[in-house]
Amino acid sequence: MDSYRMYVDGAWVDAADGRSFTSNDPWTLQDWAEIPEGDERDVDRAVSAAGRAFEESWWRHDARRRGAVLRRFADLVETSAERIAEVESRDNGKALTEERAACAAIPAYFRHAPALAESYPDSAPRGGDPNVRAVTHRVPYGVIGIQTPWNTPGQLLSQSAAPALAAGNTIVVKPSEVAPCSTLELARLVEEAGFPAGVVNVVTGFGQVVGAALCAHPRVAKLAFTGSTQGGVLVAEHAARRLVPVVMELGGKSANIVFTDCDLDRTVDALVRGFTVASGQTCMAGSRVLVERPIHDLVLDRMLDAAAKVRIGDPRDPATAMGPIATEAQLAKIRQFVAIGVEEGGRVRCGGGPPEGAEHPRFFAPTVFTDVTNDMTICQEEIFGPVCAVMPFDTEEAAVRIANDTRYGLSGAVWTSDLARAHRVTDAIRAGVVWVNDQRAGDPAFATGGTAMSGYGRLSGVEGHHEMTQVKSVQMRIA
Ligand code: NAD
Repeated sequence: MDSYRMYVDGAWVDAADGRSFTSNDPWTLQDWAEIPEGDERDVDRAVSAAGRAFEESWWRHDARRRGAVLRRFADLVETSAERIAEVESRDNGKALTEERAACAAIPAYFRHAPALAESYPDSAPRGGDPNVRAVTHRVPYGVIGIQTPWNTPGQLLSQSAAPALAAGNTIVVKPSEVAPCSTLELARLVEEAGFPAGVVNVVTGFGQVVGAALCAHPRVAKLAFTGSTQGGVLVAEHAARRLVPVVMELGGKSANIVFTDCDLDRTVDALVRGFTVASGQTCMAGSRVLVERPIHDLVLDRMLDAAAKVRIGDPRDPATAMGPIATEAQLAKIRQFVAIGVEEGGRVRCGGGPPEGAEHPRFFAPTVFTDVTNDMTICQEEIFGPVCAVMPFDTEEAAVRIANDTRYGLSGAVWTSDLARAHRVTDAIRAGVVWVNDQRAGDPAFATGGTAMSGYGRLSGVEGHHEMTQVKSVQMRIA
């Protein structure tokens, strides 16, 4: 079994009380790595180190030097991306091809963020008094506590960590207990890149203990949380008690709206990938598919054909599109939602359980429901599995109404070749990210985040820099 330690104050350490837990490989179903199980004392040690690094090291004072370290880190990630992808796939069971793409995307975050931070302009507003000059600049918060989920830990960490670090903050990271190892692999490269001790710290352990302690620590000035809506509510409660700001990237129930004038081949391919990628364990899964009635049956047939061809297997096999479900608990949740879907009158058109002749107890086949209405549980709750509901619509207004009839607001997609309609519908969809004739595309330069129960605040882009800095206004009397 591989053995990891935590990274605190520039050193590899065990948990304060010496306890550890294991990560289970969803494919072999064997425990494959041993990880320290931290508690409040470890969080305190890490936050104190991050606080010292913020106050006493050169880190927050020199954007150019920070940029050099972050770019070196990006280069190191690039050369280690394959190893990080393998580790992440062992931790969460996702197909290695997918993890390769996710890990290959990490360096760009650590190149884009310093470029932005180094060149971000101050502003000098003119007030009413000619004898007063003012300048407003963006300054770092101090210690930022970052928590990440298990589905894409490395890339999701980069979304928060890159802008936080580039702006001069120091960070304490708490990865999910389900998949903590890729974050510890990234920490190895932190050491090599030349960050001052204490700028980046990783404390592993359970959410209720380590996560809660990070949220409650008085020296943590801001929280960045990526995870479930349920977890986000807990974190927001902690943050409210201490009046610290939070950026929240939470769950979703995204709709794909398909119009008759779409490019059918591209659309169907994306619709199926939209709910099967990561075995559906992705926040931006296109779990609701709304199809204009004249092409509803055609799109459905094509989707069923394509879903039957999705290759489920060993995550390490390059031909595999869907690996096993990450945990037994997640599998049970998916099964339960499918049962509720049937109970409430939905019709399973494919899947609904393990694929025929399944050679693994954690496989779940791509599942398509029809005969659903949007008020059904499977259309309202995030399932986090390879399950989608297909519904017809008659008018653009009706499609928008259905798409927006959700407590979530993370993302959505519109499939059409009518430019005016694309504008109208993207305007009307209530979500943080909307794609036209595309899905799940992202870039460190584009803001990402949700609205309503999908969270608040934005990561990436200029907005990510704003999120990780606060404005200081300096006013000088000159006469
Ligand atoms: P989760 O909420 O269970 O866990 C997320 C993190 O919070 C973990 O590190 C966990 O240890 C920690 N945590 C758990 N309980 C806590 C507590 N009481 N106090 C403080 N921290 C606590 O989420 P998950 O199951 O790991 O991830 C899946 C969820 O994440 C899905 O809902 C998915 O949609 C969401 N997600 C959102 C995005 C996004 O960008 N919007 C991206 C990926 C995943």
